[in-house]
Amino acid sequence: MKGMPASMHRPLVAPADIPRRARFQARRTENIVESVIREMTRLAAQHNAVNLAQGFPDFPAPEAIKQAAAEAIAADVNQYAITWGAKPLRDAIAAKYHRHYALELDPERELTVCCGATEGMIAALLAVTNPADEIVIFEPHYENYGPDTLLCSAERRFVRLHPPDWRFDPEELRRAFSPRTKAIILNSPGNPLGQVFDRAQLETIAGLCQEFDALAITDEIYEHIIYDGEKHVPMMTIPGMRDRTIIVNSMSKTYAVTGWRVGWVAASPDLTESIRKVHDFLTVGAAAPLQAAGAVALALPDSYYVELSRDYQARRDLTLSMLERAGFRCFRPRGAYYVMADISTFNFEDDIQCARHLIEQVGVATVPGSSFFFHPEEGSRLIRFCFCKKYETLKLADERLLRI
Ligand code: GLN
Repeated sequence: MKGMPASMHRPLVAPADIPRRARFQARRTENIVESVIREMTRLAAQHNAVNLAQGFPDFPAPEAIKQAAAEAIAADVNQYAITWGAKPLRDAIAAKYHRHYALELDPERELTVCCGATEGMIAALLAVTNPADEIVIFEPHYENYGPDTLLCSAERRFVRLHPPDWRFDPEELRRAFSPRTKAIILNSPGNPLGQVFDRAQLETIAGLCQEFDALAITDEIYEHIIYDGEKHVPMMTIPGMRDRTIIVNSMSKTYAVTGWRVGWVAASPDLTESIRKVHDFLTVGAAAPLQAAGAVALALPDSYYVELSRDYQARRDLTLSMLERAGFRCFRPRGAYYVMADISTFNFEDDIQCARHLIEQVGVATVPGSSFFFHPEEGSRLIRFCFCKKYETLKLADERLLRI
């Protein structure tokens, strides 16, 4: 990270190339900066640091689904699946929502399989927004939502989640809605904070969506990574929200296969029709053999999910104790697999300097808190650690963090 400008972003373009840039750089890309999360993974490799930055597991995926993927390739499932997803996977997704949330989804008209939740989110936004429509986003938020909305030429309205329990102020939320609001993006359990919106909070949001004729686009990829007996409530199950919610989800986190890039979007038939159009021309479809394995994954027994959250809860507790021992003040996540830590107890200038010190001198990669804020100064006392890692990885980080 030596010589890195304070923003953490290294421009690829030399100043002499600026006239070329003026001619060829589309305005929609101008304000997009490289993902700091993904950059930190590259820097971790460069500095041989333990990667507690990007949220991907370093332990194996379940044997049954790896086997299913290998069998699908051996059986020559090598060509395009149906654009909106292989039927066995769509059926398995619908069956799982029915089993877990009593939610009836029509696999023929309400599901679109796509390349990860990342494609799902941007396909959903492209399908429902026109330039200058407003999108409400909680802050801090997962960094993709910023560029996603920029690529749609939508306007953003940010609403703060307030520490220590990361709730929103209903009045502040109301002020963010207007007749121009097209949708609100929700992520619960949330990245980077691990907050879980309870039914009352969801009802407040649902009320505003109905009053302002807006949609809720819900990133639910951490639905099964949830602690202390909390229960995930899909916004789509809240009264009045069945046809106003677009669920974005994926296999990545639940089945520890972030590199497979298999996700899905669930929405009422009219919304799905537009989402499928965007998806068709963006990517045609997710990897066919991995969709076949997805059908096996989505049919895993409930014990798999119980074990998953129990296991992550143990990793969370270990991570909290190791970070507190190292001197960080931590916010206790109730879901997802990240810990936001306050660095005020140390003498770092800001989160960037702290992350730089950790990666270069301590050998642990994290994500600077400012990358989750539109207003970077709001995150300057925070850094994010992810704990979806083997115990030996966490132990190594623990040993190194004592050097801080
Ligand atoms: N969701 C993960 C994180 O926040 C990574 C996602 C990604 O890089 N695509 O670290």
